[in-house]
Amino acid sequence: MKHPAKKNFLSEIMKLVIVIMIIITVLFGVISYFVAKFTAEDSSSDDMNNAASVISSIVYDYMDPKIKETQKIVSDDKITEFINYGGVSGSEKDIVSSPDYKYVMDSLDTLVSSDKDNVSAWLAFDVSGALIGNGGKFLSPDDFSLKDQYWYKKSNMASGTSSQPMCSAITKSVFDDTQEVVTVICPVVEIETTMGYVGLEISVDALNKILGQYTLNSGCYPIVTCNFGTFIYSPSSTEFTDKFNVNRAPLINVLSQAESYQDGIDSFSDGYDTVYFNVDNTSVPGWSIIVLFDNDIMTGGIYKYFKQICVIICCMVILSVILIRNAVNKEAALIPKINETVSGMTEGAYKNTIDTVLSSENELKTIADNVNKISVMLKEKDALIEQYAQNDILTELPNRVSLYNEIENLICNYKKDNEDKHFALMFIDLDNFKWLNETLGHNFGDEVLRTFAEMLSTAVIKYGKVYRFSGDEFILIVEFGSDYGKIYEVIDIMRKAFDKPVRIMSDNIYFKFSVGISIYPDDDEKIDMLLRDADMALHRAKENGKDRVSFYTNVSKKHTFSKASLAQRITTALRDNELYLNYQPIISTATGDIHGFEVLLRWNSAEFGNVPPTEFIQIAEETGAIVQIGTWIFESSCRFLKQLCDNYRDDIIISINVSPVQLKRSDYIEHIKRVIEITQVDTKNIQIEITESTLIDFTDSDNNVIHEINDLGIAIALDDFGTGYSSLNYLKNFPIKCLKIDKSFIDEINNNQRDYAITDSIIDLVHNLGIKTVAEGIETVGQYNFLCNMTCDYIQGFLMSKPLNEEDALEFVKMYDALHKPDSAHLEEHERQLAEEREKKAKKADMGGCIEISNASLVDGTISQ
Ligand code: C2E
Ligand code: MG
Ligand code: MG
Repeated sequence: MKHPAKKNFLSEIMKLVIVIMIIITVLFGVISYFVAKFTAEDSSSDDMNNAASVISSIVYDYMDPKIKETQKIVSDDKITEFINYGGVSGSEKDIVSSPDYKYVMDSLDTLVSSDKDNVSAWLAFDVSGALIGNGGKFLSPDDFSLKDQYWYKKSNMASGTSSQPMCSAITKSVFDDTQEVVTVICPVVEIETTMGYVGLEISVDALNKILGQYTLNSGCYPIVTCNFGTFIYSPSSTEFTDKFNVNRAPLINVLSQAESYQDGIDSFSDGYDTVYFNVDNTSVPGWSIIVLFDNDIMTGGIYKYFKQICVIICCMVILSVILIRNAVNKEAALIPKINETVSGMTEGAYKNTIDTVLSSENELKTIADNVNKISVMLKEKDALIEQYAQNDILTELPNRVSLYNEIENLICNYKKDNEDKHFALMFIDLDNFKWLNETLGHNFGDEVLRTFAEMLSTAVIKYGKVYRFSGDEFILIVEFGSDYGKIYEVIDIMRKAFDKPVRIMSDNIYFKFSVGISIYPDDDEKIDMLLRDADMALHRAKENGKDRVSFYTNVSKKHTFSKASLAQRITTALRDNELYLNYQPIISTATGDIHGFEVLLRWNSAEFGNVPPTEFIQIAEETGAIVQIGTWIFESSCRFLKQLCDNYRDDIIISINVSPVQLKRSDYIEHIKRVIEITQVDTKNIQIEITESTLIDFTDSDNNVIHEINDLGIAIALDDFGTGYSSLNYLKNFPIKCLKIDKSFIDEINNNQRDYAITDSIIDLVHNLGIKTVAEGIETVGQYNFLCNMTCDYIQGFLMSKPLNEEDALEFVKMYDALHKPDSAHLEEHERQLAEEREKKAKKADMGGCIEISNASLVDGTISQ
């Protein structure tokens, strides 16, 4: 998948490079402009010089031979002689008859012979003013006035000081006033006297033709002027006239005073333009050859150079950009890959790894390699998290998350299939695990859980999957069609799997567990409801003596209060007067008299109704509320005892259940002492009931509270003996006066030989230690008789009396001899009543309560409900 970044790093770099290149180009451009300007000025000067020398040589090449030829004639002595003899009179006759006439005429003819059509030659006599021309032409002083000639007036030739030739301005031909000519004039000087003049007239048209036929570089315009201030030649093109207004003052100045300028390039400015020009005064005497250059020749040069430099710069820039781009792309080729991979990683895709094989060794490669390493690490961690998310670490069983997924899938599939399919949710809870954990340590507890999980899942592998729900709670899902018998099969398998002790660390322990079962879709169709149902069934199994299986059926939903809400309400229960005490008589088997009462706490909650102590005592212990409640129980019990002693019998015993949480309080002894003092009771009438698990807490501890209680004269009874470790060591190490045999032993004492034998042995054994015995939970006359025969000292159970409120308890004492003292008829009647009650309860359960199966019953392969 492509993960677009907000900006592409490489294209950003390239943009930057291009911007930098543009800046460099502009800078180079500006520099180039000035470089071009200076270079162009140099080069333009050369161009201008070249153009000027071309023009000069054209004019020179054309004029110079003619000037030289003319000079040659002038330097010929015969010409001087001819002028002296023939020219003085000025008459044509004298001239023609003069001896050298023919010679002179030949010379003139020779002078024009090379270009007859465009040139004509003449010789003018200074004295007479007459003139002869080639081809025998003659002009008398009447026809020709030497002194009126423009050149004669402007030059100083007549002075005899100069014998140099000069070229005149444009004039009319001396022979033909329709013809415009320029004339090369050479004075004939003898002894510093000008004798005459030889002139060579050149047709202006011919000259123009010669000059016009050459094409100069554009922007170069040749002009030839005569030193007398007149134009010989100027370009006739409109381009020239458009560019140069020959009337503008600076230009007129240059043209009219051209002979005063140095040869070479010069310039003038007329306020708008700088005009460059070249003056040549040396090629043709009397003439100035000027070349004007328009401004374009300079800007054109600049432009040309500038263009060249720009093209070079542009090429270099483009080349640089391409090279930089390639280099950046090569070096930074990993960036998009890193970006894509890292973006992928943020979305949990760790699959892409960056291929760095061909990358150069640089920081990017290191980053890419590290990204690859992180990717691998994340992949492994992800897999681990995935595993932890789905499985329990301790037992390696699938966890609660997996359980929910599985149930959801099952429900979804069942709904789709629309078949008669069921599944049982079996909530399995280890009995007394908390006690195991607390007494033998958490490591031991962990090992117990691991072993139990492994054994359980192996045992039921054919039937379903086991999940760890929490702590010592496991869930087994068993699918079945319409054969509910499969559930019993599984229960039987489970029982058999755990009917032998299991070695954990160095101890052998029996795994006892309770099971609560809910069935989809019979009980509920929603996950949470099914779990709640199974949990409630489990609760019921626990409540009724543990180590048993209980099925949920629809009605007992009034027990839906959660542990959290109970915990919240128990703290205020005492303040709200929701707690009260019941007293259950304990009867002496020897005399049949009342030995005492066990004090039992009751909670009638406004919110939850009557909550059984098995459900709230532990919560009160966990929240710490038991301390305050226990204080109140002790005080209330003492007051009740005081009443009994004062009004009825002073040897009666009050047996108070005490929580380990209370005993661990450092002020416990102080507190009971104070209550005893206030209530004025005798400690010999008080017994405190402590469970085995409580005693374990004090086994290796510095806490002497048990002994201190004993020292006060209060008897200590070991409660629920047989449900825990049943270690006789406690009897040796602690000052136990009385042992209370748990109801679970008594229940089957008539049917189960083993329970009978154990109970009998225990009674015998503890009697030998001087300890009295109390049998709990006597419900039948059979049990009563068995225990009497076993010489159990005291009995307690519904057969004699259920727990009574204070008033009834006092009444019970008062009327005991008359009404309650057990005789066989009396006891049988009670047993019948209890059986009726049980029957009613079972019917109620059949209609929608919980159905219970005792694991013990299952041993015999029967199910008791
Ligand atoms: P426990 O100390 O073993 O109390 C005897 C339990 O057996 C009582 O249940 C009593 O009602 C029940 N019982 C007595 N005879 C029979 C019988 O013939 N048949 C049946 N089915 N049950 C019988 P209860 O009152 O529900 O108390 C349960 C447990 O709650 C007690 O067991 C004790 O561990 C705890 N508990 C009760 N009151 C207190 C108290 O004030 N303080 C503390 N710390 N725990 C208490
Ligand atoms: Mg008790
Ligand atoms: Mg008990």
